[in-house]
Amino acid sequence: MRIALVFFISFILTSNSNLSAQELRIKYLANEGLLIMDKDNNVLIDPLFEEDFGIYQTLSKKVQDSIIYGIGVYKNVDYLLISHEHRDHFSQDLVTQFILNHPETTIVSSDQVLSQLRTGVATFPYIQHDPDLNQNVVTSTFANITISSYWFRHPYEKNFQIKNYVFILKMNDTTIAHFGDSEWNANLLKKAPFRNYNINYVFLPLWYCIKKESPQLIEEYIHSDAYYVFHYPKGFDKSKILLDSKLLSGTNSWLDLK
Ligand SMILES: [Zn+2]
Repeated sequence: MRIALVFFISFILTSNSNLSAQELRIKYLANEGLLIMDKDNNVLIDPLFEEDFGIYQTLSKKVQDSIIYGIGVYKNVDYLLISHEHRDHFSQDLVTQFILNHPETTIVSSDQVLSQLRTGVATFPYIQHDPDLNQNVVTSTFANITISSYWFRHPYEKNFQIKNYVFILKMNDTTIAHFGDSEWNANLLKKAPFRNYNINYVFLPLWYCIKKESPQLIEEYIHSDAYYVFHYPKGFDKSKILLDSKLLSGTNSWLDLK
């Protein structure tokens, strides 16, 4: 009985095989950090960073350590995706610590991020995606998951060379898109391929959702079943969001996906 109980508890805490075939769970970490789980794969996006620029949310040290050392739901991470190299999305030091504790995890990002990680760890499983700026999607296909990257330009001219990827994940029958720090630009959005993907859940930075023209353009050129908003300053006034969406709040908490 004692063994059975111990087994049961560890099963709940560390396994995703108790999720049903259709079930998908998403945990909001902080800023643009997500954990996405289904019965076959666990994916982290932009989970480990330290910079808050004085306004953004960060994770507690305790949750960061859980991710780095693989505690609870973070025990088995199949893929860790990094949208771009900015310090409110990516800490070279923390991700290096993660890699040393998770030799099984494949890191998916640009050469800009991967080359920084290589200065701390000589070898680790990785996939380098090299799409051209606002041009094409690069896709990697694995068991029950495809990971696609589209380089969408980062706002502000000084950041135009930063490779900022929109990640589109197809996990069994569910499609999730994470926009990183994509620029709000109607012309670039119109030529992007997102509306071909039948997106179920899309995660957008705040600046996508506060312009008068945004809701109609987003509905037409991204077209998701549900919209979530992240990357906003603490104390932000929700009423400024014009898109029918949910503002992510409460770091390290499961989303009610419905
Ligand atoms: Zn950025």
